[in-house]
Amino acid sequence: MTVEAVIFDWGGTLTPWHDIDLVQQWSAYARVYAPDDAHLAQRLTEAELILWRRQQSSRGADGTGSLDHIFESVGVDITSTIHGEALAAYLEGWEPHTLADDQARPTMEALRERGIRIGILSNTMWPRWHHEAVFSRDGLAHLIDGAVYSSEIPHAKPHAEAFRAALDAVSATADIAVFVGDRPWDDVHGAQEVGMRAVLLPHSNLGDQAVDIDVEPDAVISELLELVAVVDRWRSAV
Ligand SMILES: [Mg+2]
Repeated sequence: MTVEAVIFDWGGTLTPWHDIDLVQQWSAYARVYAPDDAHLAQRLTEAELILWRRQQSSRGADGTGSLDHIFESVGVDITSTIHGEALAAYLEGWEPHTLADDQARPTMEALRERGIRIGILSNTMWPRWHHEAVFSRDGLAHLIDGAVYSSEIPHAKPHAEAFRAALDAVSATADIAVFVGDRPWDDVHGAQEVGMRAVLLPHSNLGDQAVDIDVEPDAVISELLELVAVVDRWRSAV
């Protein structure tokens, strides 16, 4: 099998999984935007959860939307200066949870040495510029050939259109591409549905985000660097 591209999920795959209290995350925003509004963080959280549930129940036919959808649904003025400051505080509050896994860079470098193109497909409401800043901070940006963020497209994983967009971003077809993710439903099932091979990195505690589905990943790895041997094995198979 030829492997010409490897596309990674981001959260829980290139970053270690953390359990997150969304209200606490949104409190960083609310404290700046409206310090006297005791309920804004809760309303932002509920608005976010509505979008995530819609994405999940529609199997990605409805995308995730973007942060602006959340802000608009709770009446935030996204043109205001204070919104920009609050958004910066919110994203800064996420920083400890965005740090790349120590093995992300050596794994990507090993793939690059083999002439393999590297892509990202993330279900995310965050803007591209923030993801790119995170990848730059961690020394990964130069290793990424193409990235698709669901905040920019109408669909999300596990919908086939999301995977096709990611394949296009790295100029690959499904038969020569491998997907790596931490979610059996969104990542493994979705990738296999379009004809990609799918590798599961099952570290994440998905809790009530887990979808009850029986999937058979093409490979399971316990840490990112194991991916290199998996890809080598597939490339040497006739
Ligand atoms: Mg993930």
